[in-house]
Amino acid sequence: MKIKHIEAIPLVRELQDVFQGGTYKITSRNTIVTRVELDNGVLGETFGGDEDQYQLEVCRVVNEVYRPLLAGCDVRDVEANWERMWHTRVDLNHRGIHTLDLAKHCVLTQAIAAVDNAAWDALGKALKQPVYSLLGSYRDRVRVLAIGGYVMQGKTLDDLAAEIDYYKAHGVLGMKLKVGHLSVEEDIERARFARKVAGPDFHLCTDANQAWTVEQAMQFARGVLDLNLAWLEEPVRWHDQIEGNAKLRGLGIPVTAGQGEISRHGCRELVVRGAVDILNVDVTIAAGVTEWRRIAGMAHCFGVKMAHHEEPQIALHLLAGAPNGLLVEIFPNYNRDPMWFDLPEQQPTIKDGFMYLPQGHGFGIPLRQDTIEKWRYR
Ligand SMILES: [Mg+2]
Repeated sequence: MKIKHIEAIPLVRELQDVFQGGTYKITSRNTIVTRVELDNGVLGETFGGDEDQYQLEVCRVVNEVYRPLLAGCDVRDVEANWERMWHTRVDLNHRGIHTLDLAKHCVLTQAIAAVDNAAWDALGKALKQPVYSLLGSYRDRVRVLAIGGYVMQGKTLDDLAAEIDYYKAHGVLGMKLKVGHLSVEEDIERARFARKVAGPDFHLCTDANQAWTVEQAMQFARGVLDLNLAWLEEPVRWHDQIEGNAKLRGLGIPVTAGQGEISRHGCRELVVRGAVDILNVDVTIAAGVTEWRRIAGMAHCFGVKMAHHEEPQIALHLLAGAPNGLLVEIFPNYNRDPMWFDLPEQQPTIKDGFMYLPQGHGFGIPLRQDTIEKWRYR
């Protein structure tokens, strides 16, 4: 079961619409397909991430640094292989000591993630097991949430109502409403409207993408206290993730954060210092399955639940394997995430609020090679 070859392939696809979140807008869907080939003929292959600016650099690190580093290593040695990548110094020729250093670290954790995730797919295929079984299979289905409620040009409250109806028909448990781009008052009105349309049983949470000051986040939270929101996601600005989120938790609505963290070290601060009820750290950003399960174990010690930022093709297995796994999330909207619909040969079944684990080996989600070739960045 030795690693023979590793390859990262960048995919880039422009979107038809512009999707506005609290602090950013989405105009393209990028992802990286990574292959880990073993000497026994097994091919691990998965996709992950939505990196635009540094996508090619992530792929370069995989193909030029980690490919030779792990050649000949046993794919079963997930911890040893992870540490080999983690401790290898990679010079990306970045001179900056501020933003560029932060970007450099994230390039490396994304590159480690790409290799580690595909290696877990290869390991599952080699052992003829789904990855969630290798992780302990706590459950064989995971509750599923739709990411939506974006602010878009010309979008009305009636459009939001139609969107909620569509998600309900899709079989998901609930939805995430994007907030933070408009005024706090307008977002309170949108959340109240969404609850009224969705009804009391629909799982409703909000995601501000770190848009608010603590005071603004408090104002929003007080305005929606009676709506039974499942959580407030990344309510406060990037620099106040610890104290700000901890303060907000006192109002009684669960607080989710962690998608901006790139390792267990950042997650440790959020957990130990009482800043979160739920961690949504992303396996394609924060150094892969091997690191994610360490984080989930640490969080479990502190009674913190695990969600996940996007990437259902891998997150589904992680959340099924962790006792404190909570919810997987998807974009059921083709225009927002065409890769989710076009890359897998088949999507996992969604029914009655759950996504069911595919029983194929590895992640059990074979990819369409024609889609890879069509959107491969050249
Ligand atoms: Mg988020």
